[in-house]
Amino acid sequence: MFKATRAPILADRLKQQMAGVQLSSIQIQHSFPALPTPLQTSSGSLEVAPLVIIGLRTSCGVVGESYLFSPNPSLIAALGEAIKAVFEVVSGDPCLPEDITDKILKKFKLFGGTGILTMAMAAIDMAAWDVVGKTVGQPLYRVLGAKAKTVHSYESSGLGIGDLISIRQQALRFMRAGNTTMKLRLGYATLAEDLQALETLFQACGPTVQVMVDYNQGLSPQEALTRCKAIDGHGLLWIEEPIHAELLEETATLQAALKTPLQIGENLWSPTEVQRALRLSACQYIMPDVGKIGGVTQWLRAASVAEAYGVKVSSHLYPEISSHLLAAIPNAHLLEYADWTANQFSGHTKPANNSLAVSDHAGFGLSV
Ligand SMILES: [Mg+2]
Repeated sequence: MFKATRAPILADRLKQQMAGVQLSSIQIQHSFPALPTPLQTSSGSLEVAPLVIIGLRTSCGVVGESYLFSPNPSLIAALGEAIKAVFEVVSGDPCLPEDITDKILKKFKLFGGTGILTMAMAAIDMAAWDVVGKTVGQPLYRVLGAKAKTVHSYESSGLGIGDLISIRQQALRFMRAGNTTMKLRLGYATLAEDLQALETLFQACGPTVQVMVDYNQGLSPQEALTRCKAIDGHGLLWIEEPIHAELLEETATLQAALKTPLQIGENLWSPTEVQRALRLSACQYIMPDVGKIGGVTQWLRAASVAEAYGVKVSSHLYPEISSHLLAAIPNAHLLEYADWTANQFSGHTKPANNSLAVSDHAGFGLSV
């Protein structure tokens, strides 16, 4: 476990207050809201956003709310069961999120800290941070020492692999809201089709558009070199996950051959994995997923690791939660905005002009 730059996150005065609040019980619900725009990637398609919604009850009556997203609906029930099992380890403990996370990590060391276990830990950690915000009556980004009230965002709600007419229509819809920064999924059957999709986007939006592309781990290292070289001169903000997320050495070789920054991180499971990626110079940007890296505590520790390497941090999904985290760190880059949970949480806000206002309600302001 990486410790070199770790500093306590929760202020001492709040720690004293939260020490008197105990975790009582946890409630799990499942939800499958339809995606407003179904998404096709090079590694699978999404038509619904399978969610586990968590309610964490405490001794002071405050209920912490969080959620997990699973690209695969079939694992939602297992995730819920894992959350209940992991909660048994910290039931009755004070609502001190860093202590909760460290206790869970220690308890499950032999099991190993990736996958469903880490996501279960994340669900509890996120809900515990929501409790902290609600108990002290502050939005989480203020609890965490706000650096900003708004975060820079980009549109990621659509622009999946698909027909060129749909790409054009979706891009123009983003432009009408002033959201001129957007992510296009690539990894078509051929390089020629990748280039055609990119060209369609640039033609539809004109010179003000800023584009990043995501291969969703779809290429082999050899194919990635060919395809990424072919788009290296297009002025892209970044090229995301061109190859399998576990191939960090190969990603570093690819980065060394490119001018365009590589972006990875949504499939890294701990601050230590983020540190390994950065030590290998596998990427110029990092975008941890708050659900996969283990929650708010581990996300902020990963951001702190990135800061030590001089690397900017973006978020992956969870816009209602991630916005608070980006607003609280000095090395914030861009919030990934997807509208998948817009109808699920009344606290969900949409971006305009490449910017999203962080909720000023206590906690995350999710309002399930
Ligand atoms: Mg991605």
